[in-house]
Amino acid sequence: MWSYYQTTITKNTNIPDKFKLSAKVYEELIHTEESLIQRLILEQFTKDLPNVNRTANGLVRFCEKCKLVKPDRAHHCSVCEACVLKMDHHCPWINNCIGFNNYKFFVLYLLYSLIYCLYISITTIKYVILYWHGGKFLILFLFFASLMFAISLISLFCYHCYLVLHNRTTLEALRAPVFPSGPNKEGFDLGKKNNFLEIFGNRPELWLLPVKTHLGNGYNFPRKIIDEDSEYLLRSIVYDGDGESEGMSNDSYTY
Ligand SMILES: [Zn+2]
Ligand SMILES: [Zn+2]
Repeated sequence: MWSYYQTTITKNTNIPDKFKLSAKVYEELIHTEESLIQRLILEQFTKDLPNVNRTANGLVRFCEKCKLVKPDRAHHCSVCEACVLKMDHHCPWINNCIGFNNYKFFVLYLLYSLIYCLYISITTIKYVILYWHGGKFLILFLFFASLMFAISLISLFCYHCYLVLHNRTTLEALRAPVFPSGPNKEGFDLGKKNNFLEIFGNRPELWLLPVKTHLGNGYNFPRKIIDEDSEYLLRSIVYDGDGESEGMSNDSYTY
């Protein structure tokens, strides 16, 4: 219930102001019909932002509805009517977006729901057997409902474990993010251990609790970069010191 509550109430729409176009820049942008000039305005605005991702056409990712430059991995959710940091998907079951701030809670919610459904189905088996010898019908319903939910939760949970270990969101699994070198599904992959730590943090005693332990700030993600000699280098993450990224575990988030 705690994981469910945390997943439901945590919002991911806290896009920092520096991504939002000022009224002046926005006016300039909409009053220009020349697409090359629009492109230059957005490129100029993005110059000081940590953005790496572009659209498939190599353009700055811009949200017309929110009037902002989308941070890397952020997408506009048409249900929430806002841009969502590291958007995974909009979940109709909880009527909230799953993204940077509540992804850990969501994975824990799947885990605990799965354990709960398995517990119910296993502990009702003996009564289901009794049913054939004159037991209550309701127990059959309980058994099959919990079993069906357990089966669907197991596949969803396993899929999200895969995504956690590969540092990929559901949206990125469907369409690879575009980097200067081109689209790359593995663009944010830092190795299984680091991928896990990015979402669950580096305090094992808090991994199973739905409390905030994820690393980073939601818009500047460390990446592996392949240099000319094809050797892997790790880019160290640069924080802006704007306060919001200062968590309990930032020190260990520098690779
Ligand atoms: Zn938007
Ligand atoms: Zn949404």
